[in-house]
Amino acid sequence: MTHQDAPLRAADTEAQLWDAVVIGAGPAGLSTALTLTRGRRRVLVIDHGVPRNRFTDHMHGVLGHEGLAPGELRRIGRAEVEAHEGVFEDAQVAAVDSVTDGDGTRVRIATTDGRTFRARAVVVATGLRDELPNLPGLRALWGRGVYACPFCDGYEHRDRPMAVLANGDHSDMKAHLLRQWSADLVLLVNGAFALGEAEARALTARGIRIERSGVDEVLAGDDNRVRGVRLANGTELALEAIFTNPAFVPLTDFLEGVEVRGTEHPDARVWVVGNAGDPRANVPVSIGQGATAGGDVAFALLMDEIAAATADSEPSVVESAVSAEAAA
Ligand SMILES: Cc1cc2nc3c(=O)[nH]c(=O)nc-3n(C[C@H](O)[C@H](O)[C@H](O)COP(=O)(O)OP(=O)(O)OC[C@H]3O[C@@H](n4cnc5c(N)ncnc54)[C@H](O)[C@@H]3O)c2cc1C
Repeated sequence: MTHQDAPLRAADTEAQLWDAVVIGAGPAGLSTALTLTRGRRRVLVIDHGVPRNRFTDHMHGVLGHEGLAPGELRRIGRAEVEAHEGVFEDAQVAAVDSVTDGDGTRVRIATTDGRTFRARAVVVATGLRDELPNLPGLRALWGRGVYACPFCDGYEHRDRPMAVLANGDHSDMKAHLLRQWSADLVLLVNGAFALGEAEARALTARGIRIERSGVDEVLAGDDNRVRGVRLANGTELALEAIFTNPAFVPLTDFLEGVEVRGTEHPDARVWVVGNAGDPRANVPVSIGQGATAGGDVAFALLMDEIAAATADSEPSVVESAVSAEAAA
């Protein structure tokens, strides 16, 4: 039996040479895994259960799934991958490295619990961490009235009192964007943004208020959602939503020194998809990137297989005759 014809599922996940290991079971990783398992590839998905949007109860802007709980999308996705013979391991990946043995180049994946897996290709779909401005009360309300993405969460708070909490350059542009969702909008400068005269004039001209007093605390209501902020001057502002720009930190430390597939390394065995490589990838974009990567991986594996089969095979009688003729 060739590698191609062996069963797709393996009980001993460490002994198996997987066609692909997908690291991360969010929208990007599950979509990669679904494409590859439907392509009848041997796929192991490794995930340790801390997706980026675990702080929110509902997903928005995901066609066909408007308002669905993020955990429900992951549950459905996992069931779909398992139905196509994909295998899951609950573990945290600590290291990835390429090894070349007599059998060609492989990727080795080590987990924090001391296990090692081997694959012909690895897709990293580990997402990112949002680093929020350091302000009391803010982190606890992340996803519960504090957000980054107006297109994800603006609509649910339309025409309600909202703020943009400045966090670096272009905070004024975030306020201009949010004006589409509410006329009751204030930019909390909070010493985090050098607001010039021209920017201030443009904001005011569009009806966006500017609050220059510092912010001491974000306040929660009884429902544990944002109810406002307390300013350094002692006043309280009633708000329903606060949008800010976190710093995006990709969860890819374990890739340091590893070649990633792209124009610089066109033959590398490691792909990166979703938020791990692109902080702008929302759920639908992550699903799309995952499906694209799944197709790319399948094609790369196929090219290896054609090369291996051709190298092993004797030239056919016709080929031998043609080459003999050419040599004469
Ligand atoms: C509060 C909030 C609300 C949002 N709302 C929306 C919305 O309404 N609509 C929308 O389209 N987008 C929304 N997003 C964005 C959405 O979360 C991302 O677009 C999406 O999660 C990206 O998918 P991903 O698969 O790249 O990463 P993730 O969904 O973060 O999945 C990554 C997976 O990798 C795993 N992982 C990480 N490191 C390791 C490791 N070392 N080993 C093993 N596993 C690992 C994690 O456990 C996780 O399951 C929101 C984000 C936030 C923070």
